[in-house]
Amino acid sequence: MALIVQKYGGTSVGSPERIKNVAKRVAKFRAEGHQVVVVVSAMSGETNRLLALAKEISAKPDPRELDVVVSTGEQVTIGLLALALQEIGVAAKSYTGGQVKILTDDAFTKARILSIDEAAMRRDLDAGKVVVVAGFQGVDADGDITTLGRGGSDTTGVALAAALKADECQIYTDVDGVYTTDPRIVPEARKLDTVTFEEMLEMASLGSKVLQIRSVEFAGKYKVKLRVLSSFEEGGEGTLITVEENRNMEQPVISGIAFNRDEAKITVLGVPDQPGIAYQILGPVAEANVDVDMIIQNAGRDGTADFSFTVARGDLDKTLNVLDRVKAVIGAKAIESDKTMCKVSLVGVGMHSHPGIAARMFRTLSEEAINIRMISTSEIKVSVVIDEKYLELAVRVLHRAFELDQAV
Ligand code: ADP
Ligand code: ASP
Ligand code: MG
Repeated sequence: MALIVQKYGGTSVGSPERIKNVAKRVAKFRAEGHQVVVVVSAMSGETNRLLALAKEISAKPDPRELDVVVSTGEQVTIGLLALALQEIGVAAKSYTGGQVKILTDDAFTKARILSIDEAAMRRDLDAGKVVVVAGFQGVDADGDITTLGRGGSDTTGVALAAALKADECQIYTDVDGVYTTDPRIVPEARKLDTVTFEEMLEMASLGSKVLQIRSVEFAGKYKVKLRVLSSFEEGGEGTLITVEENRNMEQPVISGIAFNRDEAKITVLGVPDQPGIAYQILGPVAEANVDVDMIIQNAGRDGTADFSFTVARGDLDKTLNVLDRVKAVIGAKAIESDKTMCKVSLVGVGMHSHPGIAARMFRTLSEEAINIRMISTSEIKVSVVIDEKYLELAVRVLHRAFELDQAV
């Protein structure tokens, strides 16, 4: 007998029929003698619908109230799934985040989980019940409802698995595992049987939204056995996120290609090329709570430099406002911005022992006349910022150039 946490995403609970199918799958695990905790997302499209409703009332909604609104999607699906389980003779009980006591900080809309009280869940499991918990939501020390950021049900699943010391956390979604890249963009993308935590973390943070970044961080930290599987197909092994590198020499150095459309580039032109300038530009940006991603600086011969960096598109206006204020102080000539950028990244733990990966990437892009605007590298990734209109093309040609579609 094992204790399994299963998380079902929005598409997997997108209709009453699909919720009934989830119930059947859960019933099968119960019949095999396993204890099951199920985490569910809101029905697909529901969180977006709720966000849009709030935006119709208020252009800049109060985050506390926004969380009250958007957390309701998951309350519907836990109740429906518990009912579906009961209908087929499986004892089940639903819990909101507040009821299980998923305690978070008070950072509304992007709260972090601090602790989970597993006593009630244990009691139910020991009494033979399936426990159904709302994903994406928690409660802060004042009892206010919080949410964990988009895609946060993955994190609820992993956090519950960690708290309950579950044997496995299974993330059921609309694809049958983690692929070499998003199969919606590259149909030849190949499913990976395993991927390391390091690579998955990098892929998630570089834009592969199949798992929320925090869920991968959590799983790595608490050593949760994490697997991504299809909720529509039976019997697949999915993708196991592994700790070990577990690779032989035959395997490719690149595991996957991640991309992110949500990039805006800002260039501060003609600033004095002197110590402290990066701080003078980026200090106020950080104070405004804006995350800066890639940064490059080009020094000219005339003692001035151009300073470029990227931010999420939603932060562009805020960042430009901040820079408007510092422009005169630092003596910048002009500030330019471009909202139509994207980032494409190659990820692979084998990369650091294989020189020439970046050069091959740049050659492949140049053969398609794709202009690289910015570059950043680490031990296990190479990222480029390019015009968004080339995104699909770039991902496809890189996928082919690095033979990611070939079986290993
Ligand atoms: P859920 O609603 O189940 O949480 P998501 O939409 O959040 O599902 O995540 C699944 C989607 O992630 C897939 O439909 C796929 O388009 C996308 N995706 C992006 N990158 C990858 C990847 N490398 N492998 C698999 N899926 C990916
Ligand atoms: N329903 C939330 C969202 O759409 C959380 C999740 O699905 O993981 O972001
Ligand atoms: Mg998701």
